[in-house]
Amino acid sequence: MGLDELFEQIPGQERLARELQLHLASPKNSYFFIGSHDAGSLDAAKAFAAALLCENDGCGECQICIAVKRGFHPDVSVFERSGAALTVEEAQEITGIAIRSTSGSKYRIIIVPEMELVGRAAPVLLKSVEEPPLSTIFILLASMELPELKTLLSRSVVVRFDSLSQEQIYEQLIKRGYAQEDSVEAVRLSAGRWSRALELASDRELRQVFSLWEQLPSLLTRDMSTIVSLAEKLVAVGSLMEERKKRSQKEELDELDAMYRAQGARVSASRDRLEERHKRELRKIRTTELRAGLLILERHYRNQLMNWNCGEGEAQFCIDAISQIEQSQAALARNCNEFLLLMALLSRLASKSS
Ligand SMILES: [Zn+2]
Repeated sequence: MGLDELFEQIPGQERLARELQLHLASPKNSYFFIGSHDAGSLDAAKAFAAALLCENDGCGECQICIAVKRGFHPDVSVFERSGAALTVEEAQEITGIAIRSTSGSKYRIIIVPEMELVGRAAPVLLKSVEEPPLSTIFILLASMELPELKTLLSRSVVVRFDSLSQEQIYEQLIKRGYAQEDSVEAVRLSAGRWSRALELASDRELRQVFSLWEQLPSLLTRDMSTIVSLAEKLVAVGSLMEERKKRSQKEELDELDAMYRAQGARVSASRDRLEERHKRELRKIRTTELRAGLLILERHYRNQLMNWNCGEGEAQFCIDAISQIEQSQAALARNCNEFLLLMALLSRLASKSS
């Protein structure tokens, strides 16, 4: 098994796997993966990291490959920001990790997802990316090439992900044995995000919860009590996702404990790292899920706009709605109160509806 096979879990990226395979023998110090987080760029980054450290170009089965995939490997850090955007302090923390020596691996690998939220931390990171120790490799991820990332991009090998069409996502779900009806709904609610589509296809409750975002435009009225109740329900979606995350984290910890018990090895450092990652994940899960919901809502208005019999007034309404949703997305990066944000957005959308 090589990088090709590791990439099999990430559909539509075969070209990319071949491209990265060529770098395994003498990798550069910085890679920049451009593509939706949910097109599988994080999984791809982990697969690439495993292939760089594994003695067989990423066999997928050895302890190294498994540890990297599960996030336990001491020399591979997936740096998750704690708040809505990466802070200068966090960038300094990354710089600190970059200069640490490895615990015996060929390379120290640092994966930083969602670089589009790098903000003021970019110059600090740039310094680290420009002058890293020879054995340190950065894999930076962003969903798009923003102007503030220009210099970082110019210092990195840029790898662009092919985005999957809705039809391709649907085909992949069917190929994996999911029912037709469930797959159609999963594709719709995933807003073009592969990993979410996969999750939705296998989970009825999740489909039900997220369909509220899709139904929102038809449920909205100018009546304040309706708006409050809808905002509360959407906040509850965040709480539900938080609970689910906690359950899956517990499973992950149990799995780590079992793995180390079987080896009779000491577990502490890996466990600390995992718990630290869990804390970071929990801190940002509500924003992440709210972002996912807003994407579904935005897609609804975009589809309306594309509708051939959409009238002029309606088209203007959709354009305004999309712009309001985009503003809410931007406000999320500033750590604002989610209930107030939703109240403001829903009130505006309702005031424009007839
Ligand atoms: Zn391996």
